[in-house]
Amino acid sequence: MAIAYLNGEWQAPEDAKISVFDRGFMFGDGVYEVMPVYWGKVFTLEEHLVRLNRSLGEIRLKSPLSDEEWKALFAQAIERSGEKTALLYLQVTRGVATQRTHEYPVNVAPTVLVTVTAAPGLDRQSITPYSMVTKQDFRWGRGDIKVISLVASGLLKNEALDEGYDDAILIRDGLVTESTASNVFLVKDGVVVTPSKSSFLLHGITRDHVINLIQASNISFEERDIREAELAEADEIWITSTGHEIWPVGKLNGKTVGNGEAGLVWQAIDSLFQSSKKEQLLR
Ligand code: PMP
Repeated sequence: MAIAYLNGEWQAPEDAKISVFDRGFMFGDGVYEVMPVYWGKVFTLEEHLVRLNRSLGEIRLKSPLSDEEWKALFAQAIERSGEKTALLYLQVTRGVATQRTHEYPVNVAPTVLVTVTAAPGLDRQSITPYSMVTKQDFRWGRGDIKVISLVASGLLKNEALDEGYDDAILIRDGLVTESTASNVFLVKDGVVVTPSKSSFLLHGITRDHVINLIQASNISFEERDIREAELAEADEIWITSTGHEIWPVGKLNGKTVGNGEAGLVWQAIDSLFQSSKKEQLLR
């Protein structure tokens, strides 16, 4: 059963209400996290808290809760939902300010929303490789902050959908940044490559975890700029995110990637990924 916590109150998500003066609603002035829940526990919890605190710091908003308080709140939310495989959504906005001005209000309590909703998709049965398209990345220059304003990503995703693709791989100044809601990896001649961290892409928690798994195995890995032209030559392309874990791309711009199926390196890393969930959460 989906559950919401909003500023101290528990309710069904559809009943939770915020003020029209909430700066999240008025300005998109807030940050968020989406965390995966398996077996009733948050996976990579510490990493999500580090990124949350970083995002809050970057938008100059003091965290309303300590890490220990966040953990207790998340545990309670999962418990109340009764869900075992779920997504936990956390949003913190700058709170309610009745005067509509860009200037930050003082002495205003941030708005805190947590929801837990079932995510059966995380129990991966059949994975169909995506058909993707490249698009120019016209989003703002701070993609490393997980802000709630997602107008540009929404436009890019829906342009891709309208054109018959599953999603877009974004290109800025001739280089791959990421996808609209996931990071991008490619495999060429046995080497896994992903773009280096920068202010133009989100530092995905799944991305970091996948890198750790690759580095702990004997697979070659490079974190560097990826030129757009390299995508067309890749043996495998994957996207990574909390909701998709590691997802293969079978076609790019209408051209088959590898043999169009999930590749061998993908299979190896996905299997490490699945085991790592059990190791972290079922110990
Ligand atoms: N890039 C963008 C733009 C995202 O929105 C996301 C999260 N959906 C990611 C990458 C992947 O991040 P994570 O692995 O932490 O979910």
